[in-house]
Amino acid sequence: MISLNKYEEKKKRLIAEFAEVKRLNKKVLLKKKTVSNLFRYGDRNKTDAATISLSKFNNIINIDVKGKILEVEGLVTYEKIVDYCLNYNLVPLVTPELKNITIGGATVGIGIESTCYKYGFVHDGLVEVDVLTPNGDVLTCTRINKNKDLFNALGNSYGTLGYVLRAKIKLYDVKPYVHIKNIKFDNVKSFIDSMYKATTDPDVEFIEALIFSKNELYLMLSKCVDKTPYLDDVYRGEIFYKLPRKKRDIYLTIKDYIFRYDPDWFWNFPERPFYKLFRKIAPKGMRNSGFYTRYINWKKKFFNEKDEGKERLIQDWEVPWDKAIELTNFALNNVNLGKNPWLAVPIKVVSSATIYPLKKNQLYYNLGCYCYVDKVKGKEDYYYTKIMDKKCFALKGLKMLYSSTFISKKEFDNLYNGKKYTKLKKKYDPDSRFRYLYEKVVQRR
Ligand SMILES: Cc1cc2nc3c(=O)[nH]c(=O)nc-3n(C[C@H](O)[C@H](O)[C@H](O)COP(=O)(O)OP(=O)(O)OC[C@H]3O[C@@H](n4cnc5c(N)ncnc54)[C@H](O)[C@@H]3O)c2cc1C
Repeated sequence: MISLNKYEEKKKRLIAEFAEVKRLNKKVLLKKKTVSNLFRYGDRNKTDAATISLSKFNNIINIDVKGKILEVEGLVTYEKIVDYCLNYNLVPLVTPELKNITIGGATVGIGIESTCYKYGFVHDGLVEVDVLTPNGDVLTCTRINKNKDLFNALGNSYGTLGYVLRAKIKLYDVKPYVHIKNIKFDNVKSFIDSMYKATTDPDVEFIEALIFSKNELYLMLSKCVDKTPYLDDVYRGEIFYKLPRKKRDIYLTIKDYIFRYDPDWFWNFPERPFYKLFRKIAPKGMRNSGFYTRYINWKKKFFNEKDEGKERLIQDWEVPWDKAIELTNFALNNVNLGKNPWLAVPIKVVSSATIYPLKKNQLYYNLGCYCYVDKVKGKEDYYYTKIMDKKCFALKGLKMLYSSTFISKKEFDNLYNGKKYTKLKKKYDPDSRFRYLYEKVVQRR
């Protein structure tokens, strides 16, 4: 934890450092210590951009327990945030499921979770934010102050309009444990109808679903509780995604619930004998997505491992609720995830982010998949990604951009409010010191 004064001192030093970089007239890239949670195809193009390290901006600053507001620096991870807030039985309105995701990354990258049907995306829970702009200024932005245009455009900007240095976010009350009730469905329509009904059920606090096939769908309706008859162990026991197939009732500590997919990076930790033993005996510090990502990167580097024959299908799409059945059926009919499930959550945004223009207060349906799948013989690379994107856009939906996307600039601008974005970019980045969104997320420049 640090004081606001200490943060202000660091901020001043950063502004001075940025002024130096500005003199070199180079493009600027963010440097950080935590692992990245981006999954865009191919290697990034080589660049001679100058790097600015924000690694030290990773502290909690303050908590207002009564007002339920937390103030943090931009590179704090959600694990640190949750550990701290749970001392007060509070957590952020939306907490991503991977421990190493940072508040800055999730704000600009559209963070989602099983509470999104009540609270919208991560950026909807933002109260105030300090942004280091590409011009080298640090601007304090809120939904109503003079920098509101920047505030409202942070969601989906992926650092192209500035870096989050400090944020105030909303919190809500939780209890020590979560009871997950699993309801199995054998057809898509009644599953989607029940998910919709749950969004207005006062007895439900978290909604998500795992979909294995057209006749095996699990709706997980959960709520916080003070006591449990037993506790499930997602570290040494069963991998979380397998539990709904085995049990109607699952009980987890609130922290294990929030990060339920973290120990096995959803369902990607291999299940071969060596890894099974690792799951049982490795220290808890190694049973997390950060360790897993570093391990995979290390294997690729030292053993030159390639993903040949595989498509990285790590993507999220959302469509208006009345298109939920169509998107689900399309995915189940056309995409083969092998034994892995699809993950679905309902979402209702409370504000319309400028460059992620979902309609305010309208329910959307998010469908995601997080695994490597076999390529389809005779089809182009990223075949599944492309057909799902096309279907999603045809259904008036949007996809998140943390992963590979292959659309034209014209289509991109139509979908993600390119006109307004370009205006903002010219205002806050007149010298094009940071990349444009299309360059960054589609062209990998
Ligand atoms: C496998 C996988 C699973 C995911 N699961 C979830 C999930 O469960 N819930 C969820 O909400 N999201 C999830 N995401 C999406 C994730 O939230 C976004 O990719 C997010 O942007 C990652 O943030 P990060 O902190 O890891 O930053 P990075 O991955 O390092 O960076 C992401 C982007 O944000 C920018 N950025 C990073 N920090 C800042 C900052 N301080 N200010 C401005 N820009 C910044 C970077 O420049 C970069 O463009 C997942 C992504 C993947 C690949």
